[in-house]
Amino acid sequence: MSRTVAVNKQRNIGIMAHIDAGKTTTTERILFYTGVNHKIGETHDGASTMDWMEQEQERGITITSAATTCFWKDCRVNIIDTPGHVDFTIEVERSLRVLDGAVCVFDAVAGVEPQSETVWRQADRYNVPRICFVNKMDRIGANFFRCVEMIHDRLGAKAVPLQLPIGSEDKFEGVVDLVRGHAIRFDKSSKGAEFSVEDVPADMKDLYDEKHHEMLEAVAEEDEALLEKYLAGETLSEEEIISCIRKATIARNIVPVLLGSAFRNMGVQPLLDAVVDYLPSPVDIPPMPGHIAGKPEEIVECHCDDKEPLAGLVFKLFSDPFIGHLSFFRIYSGFLESGMTVYNANTGKRERIGRILKMHANKREDVKWAGAGDIVALVGLKNASTGDTLCDEKREVILESLNIPDPVIEVAIEPKTKADRDALSAALNKLAKEDPSFRVKGDDETNQTLIAGMGELHLEIIVDRLTREFGVNANVGKPQVAYRETISKPAKSDLKYAKQSGGRGQYGHVVIDVEPNPGNGYQFVNAITGGVIPKEYIPAVDK
Ligand code: GDP
Repeated sequence: MSRTVAVNKQRNIGIMAHIDAGKTTTTERILFYTGVNHKIGETHDGASTMDWMEQEQERGITITSAATTCFWKDCRVNIIDTPGHVDFTIEVERSLRVLDGAVCVFDAVAGVEPQSETVWRQADRYNVPRICFVNKMDRIGANFFRCVEMIHDRLGAKAVPLQLPIGSEDKFEGVVDLVRGHAIRFDKSSKGAEFSVEDVPADMKDLYDEKHHEMLEAVAEEDEALLEKYLAGETLSEEEIISCIRKATIARNIVPVLLGSAFRNMGVQPLLDAVVDYLPSPVDIPPMPGHIAGKPEEIVECHCDDKEPLAGLVFKLFSDPFIGHLSFFRIYSGFLESGMTVYNANTGKRERIGRILKMHANKREDVKWAGAGDIVALVGLKNASTGDTLCDEKREVILESLNIPDPVIEVAIEPKTKADRDALSAALNKLAKEDPSFRVKGDDETNQTLIAGMGELHLEIIVDRLTREFGVNANVGKPQVAYRETISKPAKSDLKYAKQSGGRGQYGHVVIDVEPNPGNGYQFVNAITGGVIPKEYIPAVDK
């Protein structure tokens, strides 16, 4: 079976932002310009394409990470929706695990906000190359350069502007492209769908020269041959500059910064060009590490190659009102065919793949085949949970999984009536399977059922879903802080096992190495990332 789009023409991206920076509006506009949306929907009037769940639309926030496929130029772009609210950082983690690059949206007035810092750090942890989009350039107080400075100072990124704003606030009209050396003016009457390419305005020539020079210096630093050429006074071609920016972005040495106003439809097409030009395809990122099931010491790399045995991660379960249970799946190596049987390396069970879907904003496309690098929704899986690896029995691999923080808040929950009792426990179990940061447990002293999650809003939404989706009515108690730690302690037995089995063992999804630590006995290290597990999480283990 062959691909309709070559894998190097594929982009799996996420759009991340602090709440209200304009992530949903930007996504909407992307879907509009890529031709899947026929009208530009207003974000908060309930017409938003990416916000699938009713309550998201009512609250105006995005919770699910549905993956949406669209096309720009000759590329297939899969957009993995990431939520912006702090209670749902687990959802951000989930999507960061499976995407290859990200667009970080900032509000041109507010600049770097607390949640932008959180998602930035998460993206750092998963080594995600990114580009920045300074949105809302039409707002009073918008300041592109202050925003670039904040990205540099607060996030510690080598932020390199690739554009300059033409005007700002209500005089914002377009952008000067520092790579191609021209200006783009957006036509307001066509909702920005049309734009004209012009010379750099005369009154911006000096600023252009200065910033063009700064940009070239910053990117040429990445490539010795190019730097020499540039220092020798030779003109660099557009292709050379683009290829150098691409390399530096993928190596995470620089972060290109673009600007616009999604709401006023200005700057979105150049942003899409930048996604295609600078963000990596699945073959541009390092192979995904994992270990052989039951043999944590045997680490394997899964390359983006259809010819390798299948390996991929289930990263999201979703109940679609029309199709039923969907498992979103990222393939790292090998391929999938509908009707094929796959092996779940985490549960040890075999399952048959029913339909394979590519989700577009306005339709679902049934495909018979999907290959390495693809993101698809699978119909018919009954036993897979978020974070599970599906693979070929020829290579029973468990991929390095999600970093799932422990819940921070808990409340007691009880059924309103006797009739609600059984339905409540079934519904809670189903929700816990979908959402690994949501837990259900019993309190031995009071005999109550406790539910724990990432924040008050997280639990509020769970309770809301109980009524809406499961028709269960429940009373909840006052929220209490559950745990402050975000990493749970490895169990003594796991660590003992690690020590006994020649220095390597498995704790949950993490493979741990026990290493000598001069002066302090030994230390525990994540075998795949090399990160030292903090001492306070290590219980005393008998020598
Ligand atoms: P999200 O929370 O990051 O998804 O943000 P939304 O896309 O929902 O946008 C938050 C608010 O900002 C909405 O009222 C949008 O209409 C508004 N907004 C989005 N983009 C722009 C923009 O470019 N300019 C202005 N002035 N408002 C915008």
